[in-house]
Amino acid sequence: MSDIELLPGVRDFLSVPQKIFVDGSWQPASGGAYFAVENPATETTLCEVAAGTEADIDAAVAAARKAFEGPWRRETPARRGMLLLRLAELIDAHAEELAQLVVLENGKPIRLARGEAASAANIIRYFAGWPTKIEGSTSPVSPASGSPMLNYTLREPVGVCGLIVPWNFPLTMCVWKLGPALAAGCTAVLKPAEQTPLVAIRLVQLIEQAGFPAGVVNLVTGLGAATGAPLAQHPQVDKVAFTGSTAVGRLIAQGATGNMKRVSLELGGKSPNIILPDADIVRAAKGAADGIFINQGQTCTAASRLYVHESVLDDVLAELRQHAAAHRIGSGLSEATTLGPLVSARQLDTVNGFIQRGLQDGAELICGGGRPDNLAKGHFVEPTVFLDRAERACIAKEEIFGPVLTVMSWSDVDDLVYRANDTEYGLAAGVWTRDLKSAHRIAAELKAGSVWINCWNVVDPAAPFGGYKASGWGREMSKNVIDAYTETKSVFVDLG
Ligand code: NAD
Repeated sequence: MSDIELLPGVRDFLSVPQKIFVDGSWQPASGGAYFAVENPATETTLCEVAAGTEADIDAAVAAARKAFEGPWRRETPARRGMLLLRLAELIDAHAEELAQLVVLENGKPIRLARGEAASAANIIRYFAGWPTKIEGSTSPVSPASGSPMLNYTLREPVGVCGLIVPWNFPLTMCVWKLGPALAAGCTAVLKPAEQTPLVAIRLVQLIEQAGFPAGVVNLVTGLGAATGAPLAQHPQVDKVAFTGSTAVGRLIAQGATGNMKRVSLELGGKSPNIILPDADIVRAAKGAADGIFINQGQTCTAASRLYVHESVLDDVLAELRQHAAAHRIGSGLSEATTLGPLVSARQLDTVNGFIQRGLQDGAELICGGGRPDNLAKGHFVEPTVFLDRAERACIAKEEIFGPVLTVMSWSDVDDLVYRANDTEYGLAAGVWTRDLKSAHRIAAELKAGSVWINCWNVVDPAAPFGGYKASGWGREMSKNVIDAYTETKSVFVDLG
């Protein structure tokens, strides 16, 4: 089932228990315990990883604080940029190794994992350009005293950042947060998801190799309750950046009130994708299928609600059936695979539960819904399409985080926009049409942080990304994210 040979570097990496990284040193967790990381395609253990504790989080935060007040503060912006560039080069040089680790622990197809490694290098390269461009400004103030006054602003790093990331894009999510944090001059404690700590560990090894001073980036692996929660609530952490479930995002927002730390959240979604009657139906249906099935549907921007104009519904359903049937399901370590396993048995249970609830709610199963018969092991599920004309099934409302698409039909555009926005989420939305006026009009009315017209899932480090409503707080990437990792200081100088 696999046709890719693991690189010797990957075999060596997996052959030893992996440790946490605190103050520039790799060490066991304070309790000495390890947990197993599973290969979701084979259900076998890949590697043992240190199970961090609250004491490890304390030590990592103390190291990050010391580095922030000491050597990192003294580095020039140019040198911060140079270290990031060196890291981007190391990611490129080890791209295949990183991609293989992503496939092994997450399950996704190697082609997608290679894209993740390439984009990680590009994102770090983008942020390498920022340190020398984080500028203050002068403001034309009018003091009541009449005394001449100079006002200028300084942009300063926010401080020690707790970076808590999920398992669905285990490399991308690390660099989306580390890139801007390091560019802005912050220090970090990184907490990867317990399902996918391996590529994060390898990334931090490359950060060490690039020459970042000790304590600037610390890594604590472990369970959410044991490590993520104490990191999110730590009084010495100035900012938490989190990507994951809306439920944990709420806990993080509540826990941050102790020292009023800055919080940015990138949470779930139930994104509407809209096909107008004049769209290129073949392209739109392909975009709709890719928008939901990529990464086995485990994407915060999954195009999980598809609204198709009633006049083209049958054509779109026929295309979707074909795209679902064309998927090659199997180990991500086969070049031919286009759909891998879900990340865990728990995630498979959740997705199967939604499929059952969809059937119970009366949605019509168009294709999929089961387990591929040729795969004895692994957390696999077929690409699945439901039609829910009445839009009453839970699968039309709740985030599934699996390859399950719910199709609805529409006829009136105002009603369509109302239905598309009638959700607690607001991460992404799409419109497929040849009519420019309709495209821009609907894009303006959709309540979503990203709107894609005749495309889906286009992300770029130069463009902001984030959610409206319960999909999050703040934006990642672009100059917006630099604001999220800096404080603005206003300085008045009396020139009288
Ligand atoms: P999660 O929110 O539980 O985990 C994400 C990260 O938060 C992990 O690193 C985890 O260890 C950590 N964490 C868990 N509990 C924590 C706590 N109390 N305090 C601080 N950190 C904590 O997500 P999950 O259980 O892995 O997945 C569940 C659901 O989350 C998925 O089904 C999906 O809906 C959603 N999800 C969304 C994204 C996204 O990109 N928006 C990514 C992954 C998962």
